[in-house]
Amino acid sequence: MRTFFAAALISLNLLACGSGSSISVELELDPDLWLLRDDLPEPGSDGQALRAGPAWGRYMWAPDLPPVGRLATKPLDGPAPELNSAVVRLSLDPAGRTLSGRADIQVRAVGAALDSIDFQLSAAAVDEVTVGGVPLAHTYKSGLLTCTPDTPLPEGQSLAISIAWHDADIELEVEFFPEGFKKNVLVGYLGEPSTFFTFGYWFWPRLVGPATIAGVDFEVTYPEAKTLVISGDYQSSKDNGDGTKTDVWRLTNPAAWYVSLALAAYEKAAGNCGNTTIEVYGIPGVSIDNYPIVPATYVPIIENICDDYSARFGEPVFGTIRLAGVDERFTNGYSSPGLLIVPNYILDDDGKGSFAVRDFYIAHEVSHQWWGNDVFASGKDIWLTEGLADYSAISYIEGSHWGADAAREQWLIDAAQLLDYYAQGGADYPLVPENANELVAYIYYLKGAWVFRMLEGVIGRDEVTRALSDYRLAHPFAVATTQDFISAATAVHGESLAWFFDEWLTGTGVMSLTESHALSGDSVDLTVTQARPWSASPERFFSMPVTVRITRDGSAKDERVTIEGSESTFHLPAGH
Ligand SMILES: [Zn+2]
Repeated sequence: MRTFFAAALISLNLLACGSGSSISVELELDPDLWLLRDDLPEPGSDGQALRAGPAWGRYMWAPDLPPVGRLATKPLDGPAPELNSAVVRLSLDPAGRTLSGRADIQVRAVGAALDSIDFQLSAAAVDEVTVGGVPLAHTYKSGLLTCTPDTPLPEGQSLAISIAWHDADIELEVEFFPEGFKKNVLVGYLGEPSTFFTFGYWFWPRLVGPATIAGVDFEVTYPEAKTLVISGDYQSSKDNGDGTKTDVWRLTNPAAWYVSLALAAYEKAAGNCGNTTIEVYGIPGVSIDNYPIVPATYVPIIENICDDYSARFGEPVFGTIRLAGVDERFTNGYSSPGLLIVPNYILDDDGKGSFAVRDFYIAHEVSHQWWGNDVFASGKDIWLTEGLADYSAISYIEGSHWGADAAREQWLIDAAQLLDYYAQGGADYPLVPENANELVAYIYYLKGAWVFRMLEGVIGRDEVTRALSDYRLAHPFAVATTQDFISAATAVHGESLAWFFDEWLTGTGVMSLTESHALSGDSVDLTVTQARPWSASPERFFSMPVTVRITRDGSAKDERVTIEGSESTFHLPAGH
């Protein structure tokens, strides 16, 4: 193959030296694909599909976008109240397709008196709101429960509010993909014979205001033939003697509200990652590809992923990391404290186990036990959760038995989805935009991941790993920002990286490079042209170190240059 290439390139690249002899010089910019460019190669089309439909498709498959749009949201008006404690009692009846609940929630006014206390809740109806057994005035509309005390709750004081509600037919599909990318995801599903599950869905009253919650007890009653898993730590279980059980689970560590719950007739397999227990819950049967569901197949995979992340980013903070398969119409994934929910079919085994794209998917979700459920970065900083999850997962793939070729393929899949989005006219915004309404999943997942890869290209993997480890240690169960990560990376590197973060976080687009070169004796004169600036006004072009591979008479040598501005010229040795 190489010979053919060399022959074909002669007419383009050949320049005769003074001697008159023919010398071929082949030149390649960024041969190992460290730059996010608009002319990256297409990913291969072979290999197994992760899911029904195109293998990776000409649409974005985001592993785990949260649902939006169904329930009213309310911006906080004044300082955020605190959630002192909550006991949430849920009763699940999959056969009747109902959920009923009562929550006792202690709310404290912080920084200002509270005129009203708001909760987001998905319910068919709110049945009762009381304080000390006395009804509390409230309204409930479009998922927003507003409670109004007779007199404002004084600053520093707490109020114990009891809320009873019920929900029915709570199966819910939410469309969140951009127009033209029709794709719904199932959010809440209560039905036989498969699963009750829910994620990021407000199946209990979510206090409007605080960024995190802690100290929440869930007491969940459900048919005893099923198995329940829920975010947090298992505490105890009791047989009610009527065909139901009640389990107590506790959210001990602060969490960013994303509580998941899954209930099904599960088969369980278990393993370990350091001091953390790994549990995989699958619903026995066959997958959409007609292969048996084998939870045990996936225990060593999750152990390997977890071990890799532990070595790079520190031990997991959760005593148990559970992965539960849910109704197969759920095609994404969701990672909440100590619990990942995934489509049940991903736990199938065709006799050869998993495959690289599936391991990437699982590794993405597992990484959120570090990024998203330990360090919280959201809003305009969400690339530090989602881009970082893709980066963590692909670098896991590279170090696993799948190796560098599989990782390269996944990098190209990420890039191809982003480039397709641009090619189809998708709006381009900075990776860290000024406004939250400029957040686009294509950008913060895919470009976000590539920015970590490119940072590796600039400061090396060791420094990126140390920066991530430091960043994580500095923000345990806390909200972190883009600036926090920049500070960590800069401290590790020892000199400013502002130039890099400015262009990739505040600029738009990707690099568009062309080159021309001429051989001159034992040197090559190279000109690299950038067709597209990252900032139109003032016009600014990417500045990046680039490897140039010069192959002369079959012998390759790499040179490192830094391109700057719309046109960069270099005089490079080619006498090898
Ligand atoms: Zn994710």
